[in-house]
Amino acid sequence: MTVWPLKFRELGDDELLFGDDAGGLFLADGSFLERYASGELSRADEAFLRQNGHAFEQAGDLDWLGFAYRWAGRQSRPSDLGYVILVPTLRCNLTCAYCQVSRAPEAATGFDWSDETLGKTLRFIEAMKGPQLKVEFQGGEPLLRIDLLEEVRAFVRLRFPGSHFIVCTNLQRLGDREWAFLDQEDTFVSTSLDGDRATHQRQRTHDRQATDAFFSNLALAVQRLGPGKVSALPTIDVDQPPDFETLVDNFEQHGMSSIYLRPINHQGFARRRQGDPNAITRWNELHCAFIDYLIERNHRTGRYVEEYYFSQCLRRILRPGVDDHVDLRNPNFFASDYIVVDHDGRLYPTDEARMLSRIGRVDLSVGDVAAGIDSDKVRQLNHLSLNNFEPDCLHCVYQPFCGTDLVDDLSRSGRIDLARTDTWFCRRHISVFDKILDVIRRRDEPAMKSVARWARVPSWGDYMIPKLA
Ligand code: SF4
Repeated sequence: MTVWPLKFRELGDDELLFGDDAGGLFLADGSFLERYASGELSRADEAFLRQNGHAFEQAGDLDWLGFAYRWAGRQSRPSDLGYVILVPTLRCNLTCAYCQVSRAPEAATGFDWSDETLGKTLRFIEAMKGPQLKVEFQGGEPLLRIDLLEEVRAFVRLRFPGSHFIVCTNLQRLGDREWAFLDQEDTFVSTSLDGDRATHQRQRTHDRQATDAFFSNLALAVQRLGPGKVSALPTIDVDQPPDFETLVDNFEQHGMSSIYLRPINHQGFARRRQGDPNAITRWNELHCAFIDYLIERNHRTGRYVEEYYFSQCLRRILRPGVDDHVDLRNPNFFASDYIVVDHDGRLYPTDEARMLSRIGRVDLSVGDVAAGIDSDKVRQLNHLSLNNFEPDCLHCVYQPFCGTDLVDDLSRSGRIDLARTDTWFCRRHISVFDKILDVIRRRDEPAMKSVARWARVPSWGDYMIPKLA
């Protein structure tokens, strides 16, 4: 019998997590590690490993094939370009202190698509394969150019029937024309809601009148469009986090039970503010505390609210093929299934790459709407878009669930050759995966119930991650 190579991580209390390259996991104690490392597995060990898919008799047998199938399922499969993020204007009617999207003042000129850029963008979109597209309008505040949004949507509806449209808006100023645009079955709203009213005002709206306008438009959007059509993201300042209870109350009040906590992203103009080297530690502490808070709250209220990214990572641990979050998959090839078109028609592999390029740190553009995608540049970037050969990741039990983010490395440290374990990306994900194991191992009712809901399974039991007795 041959055992597939196992990696492990100590979890405390003489319990270790073992995993193989196909994402198969189990728990065991230190004595198993000694037997495994010295080649002295017991018969019971061998039976357990065989039964749980960590071993095979000979290459090509059913156990071997099953492992190969599971390993392949862990690799994200490239698909055709079908998701396009459009930035028709950089202008915005808010001045958020940490603007993540490199805005321009509302009255500025030269920051909108020209007629020529619009025409070339439509030709670029027309060449996509379809059959349906996902089109996301960002900015700036995209509703400032409602005319451009209308033209794009009308064109895409004709060329790719059944497509979906997402408007990322600050919901600050909406007239009849804007409401009419949003009030359509194929169109969704994504906005920002930074927790409680005081935090939202401090970070975004700056005055009472603008804050009132936002909350009134948010309530109206949920009422008019329906809760499933409106999503909101809170951006969290780790130095001044909002009150958890008020934050979740606010989301639930607007019919939202999935909350994606995001730290302030030091890109765009925010990059110019000094970053704190300990911010990741404090972020991880805050995120873990929020998970504990949600478990307690869910048990108390009987309503199940999730932290979106924690649930996403949990589902990636449990199932192959959970690759729908474009920041967490492996390989994560650039400009394969989605692309960003900036206000000047330049193409970027991600929105973060666009922001990093805009502040002049590095040019990560990969062509423009007239000439198309620069495949040589994409190929160069893609050399570093997988974690399979990273020395630290090779030995990490979380590697099959993790991903890679070259642009984040560049943004935060200005280089791509740091030891993986020193990067923000790695430290954040180690913490999320450790927290998942921590919650799973609690085995108390509040934790088990929340984990089952977040994992989208009917119930949670010890069998979900087997333990070698
Ligand atoms: S980035 Fe870090 S957490 Fe992710 S696989 Fe690599 S070593 Fe593990």
